[in-house]
Amino acid sequence: MKTRQDWFKILLTAVIFLVSISGITYAQQLSKSTIEAAVKEAYDKFKNVSEGKNADYIPALAEVNPNIFGISVVTADGDVIEFGDINDMVSMQSIEKVFAMAMVIDELGADALKEKVGVDATGMKFNAIEPIEWKKGKEINPCVNPGALATTSLIKGANYDEKWNNIITKYSEFAGRDLTVNQPVYESEAATNQRNQALAWLLFAYERMYFDPVQTTDIYTKACAINVNAKDLGMMAATLCNGGVNPVTGKTVVSPETVEHVLAVMVTAGLYDDSGIWIYDTGMPGKSGVGGGIIAVAPGKLGIGVISPPLDDVGNSVKAQYVIKYLSEKLGLNMYSVQPKN
Ligand code: GLU
Repeated sequence: MKTRQDWFKILLTAVIFLVSISGITYAQQLSKSTIEAAVKEAYDKFKNVSEGKNADYIPALAEVNPNIFGISVVTADGDVIEFGDINDMVSMQSIEKVFAMAMVIDELGADALKEKVGVDATGMKFNAIEPIEWKKGKEINPCVNPGALATTSLIKGANYDEKWNNIITKYSEFAGRDLTVNQPVYESEAATNQRNQALAWLLFAYERMYFDPVQTTDIYTKACAINVNAKDLGMMAATLCNGGVNPVTGKTVVSPETVEHVLAVMVTAGLYDDSGIWIYDTGMPGKSGVGGGIIAVAPGKLGIGVISPPLDDVGNSVKAQYVIKYLSEKLGLNMYSVQPKN
């Protein structure tokens, strides 16, 4: 004979079950359908924006279709929401810097990155040489070129091939599929990257380059040329949002402690010298690349990847910034947002 308490427990269990299968996650209070609606709204609202221009200092980037517009959101529970040109790929460019940094922190520890590279914002254009000269190669940031080159030189591996294999394997784990290099973009940048070579040599002169500068620059250039679609970017961002575990494959890619430091550095310089404006507007660690992609991370909730090649003067995709700002407000993703207790 069941007591009233038994019936109450049965009822409660049934309610919890129904709520969980309806896709609502207690922790994030965001249903898949809410996210889908917001993504579609963002797409419609910004699809006709015509501001900005493709990067052209790497010749192959000028030839990328400027109309590609794809949005992907991947939640910490592994829900994937995509809209627009989700199969079109662009090169990662600077977005790869986040994952190189994650590898180095994971392998060598947070202090090693801070001491051997630096984590302070330079406040200057992504390929400026002045920050190296001013600080004699110290206190540069992994999210801009000098810091990214130094970071790349610290990637584990005894030689070029080992380092490259470690990179492509790890980035693929972040994305949950095998990524490959966009060969024309790689060759185009390799033929025109004298400035990055100069940055690498200047770091070498200050003993802040930890592997051969020519090979390091080439590995970095190739990593920048890795092809991704919006879903790859969303998945990579979601792996960060989920403490380093890919929410779809379940693979542990880096540790939660590594992610803490990676997200912090993204806040300092993820959108170049507009990083302050970005975090002020979105409250989400982000990283852009001159290929036209931007990733953003709502810790514990979701990752966003947006692709649209035309950039503003600073080098950030115009439409991707609009979309992510919109989603941040609409879905309450600002990580600094706190509800008072009473
Ligand atoms: N490969 C590019 C460069 O080094 C990346 C720049 C970027 O996306 O910010 O110039």
